[in-house]
Amino acid sequence: CGIVGYIGTQTASGILLEGLRKLEYRGYDSAGIATVWEGKLHRVRAKGKLFNLQSKLEGEELPGFVGIGHTRWATHGKPEEHNAHPHFDMTGQVAVVQNGIIENYRELREELRQRGYEFVTETDTEVIPNLVAECLQTMRQNGEVDSLYSPLTEAVRRVVQQLEGAFAIVVLAADYADEIVVARQQAPLVLGFGQGEFFCASDVPAILPYTHAVVPLENGEMATLSPLGVEVYTFAGDRLKKHPHRLTSTS
Ligand code: GLU
Repeated sequence: CGIVGYIGTQTASGILLEGLRKLEYRGYDSAGIATVWEGKLHRVRAKGKLFNLQSKLEGEELPGFVGIGHTRWATHGKPEEHNAHPHFDMTGQVAVVQNGIIENYRELREELRQRGYEFVTETDTEVIPNLVAECLQTMRQNGEVDSLYSPLTEAVRRVVQQLEGAFAIVVLAADYADEIVVARQQAPLVLGFGQGEFFCASDVPAILPYTHAVVPLENGEMATLSPLGVEVYTFAGDRLKKHPHRLTSTS
């Protein structure tokens, strides 16, 4: 129920942990973060309060300048570590954190199963990284090159159109270390604009220590964050112009 994402020039894991601390009131069931470093996803998760994740991270700092984090309020699947976000696809190439509920996850999971996908959690979330990974693979096989969007953006755009429910998601992929893709449908998501670094979160307190320049996403909008900037689109793929507004320190 608490989401954070970071891409920039600083080590992501500390910023993600700090962001999650500001959102901890949103979920106590588990917490986790994932980063990309040297073409691989890295992940640490822990059941229970954020403190448990923090203790684990003291032993194994995650490397990388891009990452995502989550504190969970379980809706589908017991509050156990294996159900903690971020969730990976079967091949460990795509990571996703999600708030809210994917109402049609059973159908999607069944369809994926029939296409050979295996699941290791009881969450509604796990279909998402698998659908994104499958879409990336299909696009690669078909030699689809879209100059308008990055492949990860296009894959997430196609996948969110299949998802029903109220949710916000943040997607990270091993092969695309210079971007994070986010999407919002009936669950809050705000973007933060720093100097060569960009943030996303389910609530502004996670971003405020780093920047006061924000853009809230609206329903049916998605965004790609890279170290060079942020692009916002509709799920239909139309690019939107958004200007960050400045929050005062009391807001
Ligand atoms: N439905 C997802 C789960 O149960 C996300 C819950 C949340 O918003 O924390 O894992």
